[in-house]
Amino acid sequence: MIKASGFPVTKVAQSRLSNLSLENIPFGKYFSDHMFMATYKNGDWQDPQIIPYQPLQIAPSLAALHYGQSIFEGIKAYKHASGEAFIFRPYENFKRFNLSAERMCMPEVPEYIFMDGMRQLLALDQDWIPAKADHALYIRPVMFSTDVALGVKPSETYTFIILLSPTGPYYAKPMKIFVEETYTRAAKGGVGFSKNAGNYGGSMMAAKKANELGYDQVLWTDAVEHKWLQEVGMMNVVFVINNKAITPSLEEGTILNGVTRNSVLVLLEEMGIPVEERKINIDEVIAAYKNGTLQEVFGTGTAATIAMIKELSYKSEQMIFDTDSWKIAPAVREKLNQIRYGQMADTHGWLYKI
Ligand SMILES: *Cc1c(COP(=O)(O)O)cnc(C)c1O
Repeated sequence: MIKASGFPVTKVAQSRLSNLSLENIPFGKYFSDHMFMATYKNGDWQDPQIIPYQPLQIAPSLAALHYGQSIFEGIKAYKHASGEAFIFRPYENFKRFNLSAERMCMPEVPEYIFMDGMRQLLALDQDWIPAKADHALYIRPVMFSTDVALGVKPSETYTFIILLSPTGPYYAKPMKIFVEETYTRAAKGGVGFSKNAGNYGGSMMAAKKANELGYDQVLWTDAVEHKWLQEVGMMNVVFVINNKAITPSLEEGTILNGVTRNSVLVLLEEMGIPVEERKINIDEVIAAYKNGTLQEVFGTGTAATIAMIKELSYKSEQMIFDTDSWKIAPAVREKLNQIRYGQMADTHGWLYKI
């Protein structure tokens, strides 16, 4: 097992960066010059290395394609005015990645591969981190099974890759949200807490139907009663009711334990807003809307940071919000951004220097 962080590097002959403007680029469309890759076989990780970003050659019988052992993460790196670059809370993603791996019967990725691989890749491609407000370099670690055989069982071989994708603001506009009661994202005992590929394939139908009705995303409800609120697309959700921030709790394992969610809850408490992690159902939200105590609703996630919700529709109930008048979501977004971009002291140790 190689423990050193100086992984072998094969560099591109010429960077593609000179042909690209890093301003207002769409999410997930462009990738940096290099990627990190390691493979798992014979019970251990092998050949960790950095190579030019390139297509993979795969067998049609590749296990991941058929049986869905595939997990990923989403992390962001930011450039500060000083020119230094930092990753936001990557250890949280490292831990969550291995929780996902465990649930999907995949091998644990050791810290020296995940963290040192990411750091070395970022150091090499750091010119790809856009130096612009609300822009960042999105980091996408992914692992999938690679046995070349049919048959439903945990694969014996895996590939781990880290990709880098420069990105502008995502979901920057306030969203119209449809409260979903027909489709289910996750049930107790399932895989909702893990960032595994199948969760997203399974969620697309609901989002597509909501889009057709003019909504940006769905707010998922629980699988049994379809009234306990879960999360919004690829974001956790926070309701501000009566000056308290309420967000669905994690104990049933049906929602993602978001790093942004956790960061926002910490910042809200520091701003003097009490936080409640508990079960919350749609009836409570509607009642609060009707009696005027529902102040704000927003989503939190690495890709989107904080996305305000301007409309929430449930059956015939339409809750409409004047997001321009909101105080809390914009304030917590500002605080989080100031920490990420180095304009405010990082008192929580959230920034990891590349
Ligand atoms: C990734 C993700 C989130 C947000 O998690 P962050 O760590 O804040 O990026 C929320 N919900 C789902 C379903 C996700 O996949």
